[in-house]
Amino acid sequence: MLHTVETGVRSIEAYRGVVPDEILDGLIEAAEPLRGARVVHVNATAYGGGVSELLNAAVPLWNGLGVITDWKLIAGDDAFFRVTKKIHNALQGAPGELSAADRDLYLATAERNAKAFEERYDYVVIHDPQPAGMRANGNRNGAKWIWRCHIDTAQPNADVWQFLRALLEGYDAAVYTMREFVPADLPIENVQIIPPAIDPLSPKNLALPRHLAHQILAWIGIDFEYPLVTQISRFDRWKDPLGVIEACRMARESIPNLQLALVGSMALDDPEGSAMYQTVCAAARDDPLIHVFTNLTGVSNIEVNAFQMLSDVVVQKSIREGFGLVVSEALWKGTPVVAGRAGGIPLQMADGAGGVLVDSIEACGAAIVRLLGDPDMARALGTSGRDRVRRRFLLPRLLLDFAKLLAGLGGAQLPVARPPVAQGPASRDPVCGMTVERQELELAHAGQVFHFCSEECRRRFRKNPKRFLSNGPAR
Ligand code: UDP
Repeated sequence: MLHTVETGVRSIEAYRGVVPDEILDGLIEAAEPLRGARVVHVNATAYGGGVSELLNAAVPLWNGLGVITDWKLIAGDDAFFRVTKKIHNALQGAPGELSAADRDLYLATAERNAKAFEERYDYVVIHDPQPAGMRANGNRNGAKWIWRCHIDTAQPNADVWQFLRALLEGYDAAVYTMREFVPADLPIENVQIIPPAIDPLSPKNLALPRHLAHQILAWIGIDFEYPLVTQISRFDRWKDPLGVIEACRMARESIPNLQLALVGSMALDDPEGSAMYQTVCAAARDDPLIHVFTNLTGVSNIEVNAFQMLSDVVVQKSIREGFGLVVSEALWKGTPVVAGRAGGIPLQMADGAGGVLVDSIEACGAAIVRLLGDPDMARALGTSGRDRVRRRFLLPRLLLDFAKLLAGLGGAQLPVARPPVAQGPASRDPVCGMTVERQELELAHAGQVFHFCSEECRRRFRKNPKRFLSNGPAR
């Protein structure tokens, strides 16, 4: 079995008063026909980067809406993740090619993961290139497969794209963040444009009391005597952390005491993070006004929240960017952003909302100086950015778009529901939906006996039977 990431269940009603009512009501209505459907999201890491952030937020909410949703991880060794990072970089336009050994390793890992993917689902949502090859190994259960591409594929490396392209045959739908990212020769007809979103109720985005945010940052070494600019992102070449350092040094010609915080996490599936971190530390050495923080030294969601809230300007100087959740996160706190005009960033800051888009290090430095020199303008930009995020980039909107996509794909799959009560010679595991032939693992609950394919499924059922029983009629 693929590893399952446990996330719990959350109520959509908690979002009332935060997210516009029409979005919440639209979502509740759109999710109704999907109650009892079984959906799985598959990606490569439970921590680090925007996809894990999104799944952490979305999966519990889907379950709260009655759509039985799991999150599973593929397994791969370091060499596999070096190959997938190569694919990621190439799809964002880096030169290079995959060797025959790279291709073999990718395909063999995809096959192994496909074999380990035993459970039965109605919808399989595959995130990004790492697990994309699983579909080519068959579709044992007749599920609908969706390829969700989060990366900026506007100018992909042609060779690597052709390798991936062949693996995408057989998907029923594709989801991209922007129309510009969709390759002309994508072999999937049904393409939906659905931008990501942030969870306004997560500890990262909740409104922190100002004094608490202040205390948190002072404790980790920020001096509020000086203006503060922050970039929060994986240590990754496409996020251009060295460009940010240079831009801040330029801005210091006008604002000598400008402080810069670079806050970065190490994604578990990103083998290049640690080398980039070392490079950034070397560039920041001997500069007491540049702070480098990572999740490895304890900078986590609350600290990120405090940085996004209290920085005078948040920078996201990306060169390529699938979406850049960090932009919406900062804008949600009313903080103005200076960001690279790359990928999904302009979508978040369209029509001049939220801050300033830049195309060079010089422009980045100049925009920082401009915003720091005009607090009224900076505040107004922050306010317009927050309003845009509220209307377009909060989690329930993302679920609403996805619910429509799933329902549209439904056809014969819907209505889908929990399997019948598991009794008799051939019964179904109520957790994973698989047919259970040897009925050794059983559990009595509410006067009925259920059978399971594995100890893992029995454990999950025991923990929360309601999740697996309360969703609509049996098939
Ligand atoms: N992030 C974090 N700690 C860090 C750096 C990043 O929690 O030190 C989070 C950030 O808040 C955001 C996500 O990681 O939620 C990054 O997503 P984004 O879409 O900006 O970029 P990606 O890493 O997916 O390219």
